[in-house]
Amino acid sequence: MESADITIIGAGVIGLAVAAEIARPDRNIFILEKNPTHGSGISSRNSEVIHGGIYYPQDSLKAALCVEGRHRLYEIAEKNKILYKRIGKLIVAAKTSETEELEYLHENARKNGVNSTELLSAREVARMEPNIKACSALYSPETGIISAHDLMNYFLLRARQNKAELINYTKVTGIEKEGRSYRIFTQNGKGDTFDFSSACVINAAGLESDTIAGLVGGSYRLHYCKGDYCSISHVKPGTVNRLIYPAPAKKQVGLGVHLTIDLSGRLKLGPDATYISRAEDYTVEDRKASLFYSRTKAFLPFLKEENVSPDMAGIRPKLQGIGDDFQDFVIREDWPGFINLVGIESPGLTASPAIARLVNKMLTGKHSD
Ligand SMILES: Cc1cc2nc3c(=O)[nH]c(=O)nc-3n(C[C@H](O)[C@H](O)[C@H](O)COP(=O)(O)OP(=O)(O)OC[C@H]3O[C@@H](n4cnc5c(N)ncnc54)[C@H](O)[C@@H]3O)c2cc1C
Repeated sequence: MESADITIIGAGVIGLAVAAEIARPDRNIFILEKNPTHGSGISSRNSEVIHGGIYYPQDSLKAALCVEGRHRLYEIAEKNKILYKRIGKLIVAAKTSETEELEYLHENARKNGVNSTELLSAREVARMEPNIKACSALYSPETGIISAHDLMNYFLLRARQNKAELINYTKVTGIEKEGRSYRIFTQNGKGDTFDFSSACVINAAGLESDTIAGLVGGSYRLHYCKGDYCSISHVKPGTVNRLIYPAPAKKQVGLGVHLTIDLSGRLKLGPDATYISRAEDYTVEDRKASLFYSRTKAFLPFLKEENVSPDMAGIRPKLQGIGDDFQDFVIREDWPGFINLVGIESPGLTASPAIARLVNKMLTGKHSD
């Protein structure tokens, strides 16, 4: 490895989307990934939902990049035969007191430029989803699901076609400022070390993005927030055809345990949100099955507790600690030519093509433009 024009740290959906956007045959771009393969971090442990952009505060990066990213994702998926379904989503009020929250979200959606949401009565919900119980609902027709792996493979292919290089098994262990560039220190799976110089650095290291920024003097602190999922068996296909979410509670972390459907039609409950001290534990406790059942049975009356089983988990890289207010994505050039992407939790998958465009804009004029 000689010297690089741009080094991207992390080959999750964000690093790969950025690589696809900025790669050019005349640029030397390396994507460094500590794992044996790309996309095995947060990007492979999520709900694969293309979010509408309803929940996030107006003028936040999360809102703007989610809405732009959603439009781009549907275009990319359609053009490149990436598996996706625009199945829509219902946020349901299980009791009348929750209706106010749906009205607030409907308003908020408008503020974020999402004009397609509709408030539905109990009867309209029953017509749309006869097996759901709700006093009212907010319908988001633009919400969908996508294969995160197909999407990442597409981004990687595009990056490679433009001569970017993915180097797996290569962990970044140190970074030093070196004149107008950065010296990157790495270690591979066998323990061999290697260092090289890079004019620009893009930190897309997901759960370790605060550590990477810290190598250059940054002081971000991520909080790890685990989301468990439970699978649902023995439900007839077609029982539910849309994603079903509860009305969010005040100051809630995450969107509340909800019903997701994957591209093969399998149903899951989750994710919940539990702060943990280390980003390592992906086990799902047995007790989560009965807990998730009791949290969702009011609006999913067809569920039977014995058909709910512990499944997988993912970990969110949150800048928001317990009890903190909303925290936005950080996408910032903290040092000349060094862009940090920190706190890229949900809706990061949806926003990925828009985040990549933003990073590209930040780089324009920096290197060989
Ligand atoms: C439970 C859960 C559900 C979610 N659901 C959705 C959803 O439905 N829709 C949506 O839009 N978003 C969702 N998200 C958010 C979305 O999954 C993330 O925003 C996105 O996957 C983050 O991608 P990333 O590339 O930043 O991180 P990652 O995929 O984790 O990629 C970072 C990569 O950096 C590598 N790395 C770390 N440190 C180093 C190092 N020192 N050297 C080299 N490589 C390193 C890691 O190995 C990893 O591969 C969800 C997240 C969670 C946790």
